[in-house]
Amino acid sequence: MKYIFANWKMNLGTRESVALARGVMRTLRGKEKTPSVVIFPSFTVLNEVRKVMARSRMRIGAQNCGTDKKGAYTGEVSISMLEDVGCEYVLVGHSERRFVFGESLDVVSRRFAAAIASKLTPVLCVGEPLEERDAGNAKGYVGEQLTTALKGVRLPRQKHLFIAYEPVWAIGSDHAALVADMVDMHEYIKDTARKLVDVPESKIHILYGGSVNAVNAYTFLREELVDGVLVGGASLKIKEFQGIVDSATDVITAQEL
Ligand code: PEP
Repeated sequence: MKYIFANWKMNLGTRESVALARGVMRTLRGKEKTPSVVIFPSFTVLNEVRKVMARSRMRIGAQNCGTDKKGAYTGEVSISMLEDVGCEYVLVGHSERRFVFGESLDVVSRRFAAAIASKLTPVLCVGEPLEERDAGNAKGYVGEQLTTALKGVRLPRQKHLFIAYEPVWAIGSDHAALVADMVDMHEYIKDTARKLVDVPESKIHILYGGSVNAVNAYTFLREELVDGVLVGGASLKIKEFQGIVDSATDVITAQEL
């Protein structure tokens, strides 16, 4: 299986979100073999988008989650609130949360632990800034993000482990990672995750994110170590997103996945 995760970030109001969700549904309609598509809209439109997608194969997720069940946490949205509106997935530790809003390794690991303990499937986002890659420390940096979030995690038997490798410098930059560098990092992430969490390899899914578009998606998705892509900017343009979905469908068909 290949996964296409669409991170709409803080871009769309209700009308635009509903229209885009309908457009994405149309791209999947009638096709026999399609990737698993999960949309991550803004909190305010989760309910409307869920209603639109109710009878489709698409799933819905949130862009972040609170660590606590309820209480005096102004501005946070709890996991049970996300479950309440039909979320099945949640992004944790997205680079914009870490670097724009200062979420520490500790905060990210608490969000991840809370999501693992719930019905949601968290998608742990990791990735190095350019200085770390230039200094030859990309794996050291990502390794620390993985270790703080995954150490001691006990994955419930029915759950899968999702990790998105998103180099900070590749996000929204039009400079996607080189396929060889990305494959090398995916291999490292898989090995590290297996050392940290007791989980069979078949349940670890590693996605690439960072300036994926309709033109380059196929070159990432055809790699065996790439279980899918997390798409930001290009997921807001229906033609681009359709191209990415079609690339995944071509890979699934060619590789008989
Ligand atoms: C993202 O924000 O997760 C992302 C990958 O963005 P973009 O596709 O725009 O680089």
